[in-house]
Amino acid sequence: MKEVIYEGLTFEPYITSDRIQTRVQELGKVIMEDCRDKNPLFLCVLNGAFAFASDLFRAVEGIDAEISFIRLKSYEGMGSTGKVKQVMGLGENLKGRTVIIIEDIVDTGNTIHNLIHDLKEQDPAEIRIATLLFKPDALEKPVKPDYVGFEIPKKFIIGFGLDLNGKARNLKDIYVLKED
Ligand code: IMP
Ligand code: MG
Repeated sequence: MKEVIYEGLTFEPYITSDRIQTRVQELGKVIMEDCRDKNPLFLCVLNGAFAFASDLFRAVEGIDAEISFIRLKSYEGMGSTGKVKQVMGLGENLKGRTVIIIEDIVDTGNTIHNLIHDLKEQDPAEIRIATLLFKPDALEKPVKPDYVGFEIPKKFIIGFGLDLNGKARNLKDIYVLKED
């Protein structure tokens, strides 16, 4: 694996696709045990979570589960704007459901905090959070993800769904911005 360059910035290999896949299968097993008889509704937060959601949802094939999608946007370039826009709404009725939000990454926690607030208006039975990546040192909101792939330091990463201004989502592995 080599370094990659986007918008003049150099990124170095950080988490390989093999490690990601192993971890996703582990999370899938835990979720299946926790939610076996709950018919959970997975809610994939687009755009970034599509790759993780695709793999995680197939890692719970042993239970009844459904998936739906919502589109949110809060990042511009390499920083969170703090404001979260709901760009594409949710059709499903959440009343009484176990909802598992699938996120690519929880950074400041603003996105997920706002989303949970909105979802609660529909009176779901419970809301859980599954995130591939978690930056605990960046957290600004009282958010506690239930299923975490990898805890990472406060660094900017790309790949496996995560982007820099829309680019690099198609990298199989995850890369971190090189600081020198
Ligand atoms: P939060 O609202 O600050 O928790 O940010 C959540 C969203 O910001 C994520 O769903 C990502 O789309 C984006 N984001 C946060 N950190 C990174 C990163 O290191 N690389 C790319 N996108 C990121
Ligand atoms: Mg996201």
